[in-house]
Formats: sequence, structure tokens, C-alpha cells
Amino acid sequence: MNPEVVDVAIVGSGFSGLGMAIQLQREARRSFVVLEQADEVGGTWRANHYPGCACDVPSALYSFSFAPNPGWTRTFAPQREILDYLRGLVDRYQLRPHLRLGTRVRAAVFDEQDGLWRLETSGGVVVARHVVLGIGGLSQPSTPSLPGLGDFAGTVFHSAEWRHDVPLDGKRVAVIGTGASAIQIVPQIVPRVGHLDLYQRTPPWVLPKPDHAISPTRRKLYAMVPFAQKLERARIYWTWEARGLGFTVDPRIMKLAARMGRAHLARQVADPALRARLTPSYMPGCKRILMADDYYPAITQPHVDVVTDGIRRVTTTGIETVDGHVRDVDAILFATGFRISDFLAPVRVVGRAGRVLNEEWHAGGVAAYMGVTVSGYPNLYLMMGPNTGLGHNSMVFMIEAQIEYARACMRAVEAHGARWADVKPRAQDGYNDAIQPRLQKTVWASGCQSWYLGKDGKNETLWPGFTFEYWWRTRRVDQAAYEYVGIA
Ligand code: NAP
Repeated sequence: MNPEVVDVAIVGSGFSGLGMAIQLQREARRSFVVLEQADEVGGTWRANHYPGCACDVPSALYSFSFAPNPGWTRTFAPQREILDYLRGLVDRYQLRPHLRLGTRVRAAVFDEQDGLWRLETSGGVVVARHVVLGIGGLSQPSTPSLPGLGDFAGTVFHSAEWRHDVPLDGKRVAVIGTGASAIQIVPQIVPRVGHLDLYQRTPPWVLPKPDHAISPTRRKLYAMVPFAQKLERARIYWTWEARGLGFTVDPRIMKLAARMGRAHLARQVADPALRARLTPSYMPGCKRILMADDYYPAITQPHVDVVTDGIRRVTTTGIETVDGHVRDVDAILFATGFRISDFLAPVRVVGRAGRVLNEEWHAGGVAAYMGVTVSGYPNLYLMMGPNTGLGHNSMVFMIEAQIEYARACMRAVEAHGARWADVKPRAQDGYNDAIQPRLQKTVWASGCQSWYLGKDGKNETLWPGFTFEYWWRTRRVDQAAYEYVGIA
């Protein structure tokens, strides 16, 4: 079979992949395909469909600025609506002919001679001048290898691989983890289960969630007067952006969030002993701040136990904690997050001189330039790459900036009459040497264990400042930072 040849190959069809596809479609200058391993678009919003799954960023901001959605029914959209929004974009922008669903990309190999990437996929080879990796950082579920887990006689699954076919009604269930996923799941299943043991290793900071329905009148207004929704989006953007002060400028501001968190806890949990176990001992924001009004009321139900003793092992019938207590259950649900270090796991990326990005990152840590390009891997663009995550605002804003930056890089290659551009090692090192000391002053370095931190406590995940700074810095390509090679 002849390989499919395109200007741009996009891997993944979540916000990143679809956003890039829309912009290339609007530009109508470059051929492109979207390679998606699943049979449906949507990325993380397709993969995660556990009960209660919703966004903890306001819906007005959790959509593309260039593709607003006047139809959001709530201030914080449920998963189904976000997935429908993403699916709707496929038809709205006629992306269907570009989609290659059920196509798993195994490897992307760069050929220095012709300056082209060869993508080995389950559906054959795709050859592309540029590759956009929109595979998401949180796609590989992490399940702790607890001793005895393989011998457990009941059902086991992860929050990101929810089994709707497993009946939980009246059953004894263990949920392990108290992160962003767990606090959405627990209130949904508590009314159904016979008994719930919630295994908490570290208590999260939980703040009230200002979630409410958006009235049909307001939705009509947004549909008829898009500017009204734009104004609301701008208002929310700046309100949320202001939170960046506490995360990145002066973590002492987080004392305010701690006060709010303690007040929320005091309002909802009467038992002082339980309250003490639910009170975090680290600064809010060091781990992701969670928002829920129904979490504490759910875990204070008489048929729920919050277990804070460490897990020793899983028996055939339940879970044994370090104090020797065994709690029998019918099902164990892991809400234990994702393997962030395996960012590239699904795709082997081979760059110049046979260098393998997966191996380099595994051995030496994860790093990129502007979070998008990586030295040694020309014409390759990462979406949601290293040090572009946020604690305080919408990732969709960052993704949009990255899409524009990647497109500007593509234009620069063409403007140079080159085949490819490779970011210079010095530029990449200089960039990272400048952001790492800034990260040391943020709330994420205030002393807690979190998935934000990689080897040696180095933060390879988050952006150290405001999102508008990132937008400003990525709005143009510093061409001196790149080596332009070959004649197109
Ligand atoms: P997470 O935030 O990483 O939380 C994992 C939980 O599992 C933590 O409570 C962790 O405890 C616990 N855990 C992990 N390994 C354990 C072990 N061996 N024994 C006991 N407990 C263990 O994962 P998540 O809740 O899936 O969320 C991941 C990220 O996805 C979030 O930070 C967020 O970025 C995103 N997310 C977003 C939304 C949204 O609304 N937009 C919703 C869900 C998820 P420790 O805290 O002690 O490590």
C-alpha cells in the first residue's frame, strides 16, 4: 500500500488535535490528516466517562475562542456536553474527510535526507512534512501495583476505564485516591453502593464549586449576540487569571484559599476527628485545588468510611491496611491518576541521527522549547508539552497559543525556503534554565508530593507564570532560535 502523503500529520483528536485541524482547515493551504487510535474523537473527554465526570474550569473558557459554544447548559460543563462540543466541531468545520479513526500511531521517524516524517500506524505509513503530537499528558492510567492485587476475587478498574457494566448498587466498594477524579465519582456512587471505603493517602484542598445551570434565555442571548458571551469569557478569564498571583507570584496569598477551604470543611463536616483527617497539611495549590459541594456531604454518610491508614496489600476478598485491618469489598476502583512520565508512551519518536525522544526524556528528564519544539526533532510540535500545564486557568487557552505557535513555525520553514527547522540546543537550554528558577518560587515547590514534580523534585509539568505571558512569548517565532535546513 502506498503511504499517504500530507503536509501535516496530527496525532490525537482531543482539544489539541481538533483545534489544530480546524485552523489548518480554515487556512486551506496545507493537506493534513488527524490520526486517532480510538473509534471516536474527543481525547480525554471520550476516554473519561466515569459517573460525575465534569470540568472544573468554567465552560465559557473551556472551549475555543474561535469556536464558541452558546449552548453550554451549566457554568461547569459535564463530560457529555464537552464531548458533544468536540464531536460537533468535526461537522462544523468539515473535518470528517481528514479523520483516520481507529489508527494507532506506533512510531514517528524523521528522515534527514528528505526532511520528512514517516509515521508507522496500524493503518499503514503516513508521510508528513510536519507532525503535531496532540496525545495529551494524562492518557496513561496509573494503577499502583499493590501486593496481592492480581489475586483479588472481585472487580477492579480504573476511573479512566470505567466499567458501566459492573453493577455497584448495594455492593461493598473501595475507592482508592482522593484527587480530581475521585471527588467527582464518590458523590455519584455513594447513594447507590451498600458500603464505601474511601482510601485517602493525602487529603485534598476542596473549595466550593460555583456551578449552576445557565438559563435558556441566557443561552439564547449568547447565540444571538456572540459578543455577550465573549464579554463573559473575558470576565471569567481575568478572574481566573488573577488566581495565578497565588500560584506563581506570591504563594502566601494561598493562605486565603486555605481559609476558604477550612471554612468549607467546617460547614460540611461536623465531626472534629474526621475534619482533622480531611485537613491538608500543605499549601493549597501545591497539589491541584479541587472544587465540590457534594464531596464532604457524601463522605460523611453513615455507610462511608474514610480510611487513612496506608494500604499493606490486597487480599482475595478485600484490602488490608498497615494496622492489619482487612476490609472486604466486592469492587476496587482506582482513582489514582495517570503516568505523566509516560507522556510519549504510545508513540516512539525518532529524530535526527536516530535519536529517540522517549529514551532521552526517560534518561535525562523532559524538556522542550516553549513547551512545543524539541531540539533534535525538527518540524515536530508538542501540544500540552513540558512546562505548559496550569493550576489556575484553562488549558484550552494554552493549547490555542501552541496551535498558533506551531503554525508560525511551519510558516517560518516555508519563508526560509527550507525543508525543516530544528530548535538550537542552546536556545532550548537557555529557555529551560530561565523557567526552572522561577518554578522554585511557586506554590508547587512549597513542599508536597505531587504528579507535577518529576525526578529530583524538578517541575517538568507546569508553566511558571500567567497564561498571557505564555501567549505573548509564543505569538511570534524567534527565528534565531532555530536552525533552518535544506532546500524545499
Ligand atoms: P490525581 O490527581 O493524580 O489523584 C490520584 C489520587 O490517588 C491521589 O489522591 C493520590 O494520593 C492517590 N493515589 C495514587 N497512588 C496511590 C497509592 N499507591 N495508594 C493510595 N493512594 C494513591 O489523579 P486524578 O484524580 O485522576 O486527576 C489527575 C488530573 O486529571 C488532575 O490533576 C487534573 O489535572 C485532571 N482532571 C481534571 C478534571 C477536571 O475537572 N477538569 C477531572 C479529573 C481529572 P496522593 O495525593 O497522596 O498522591
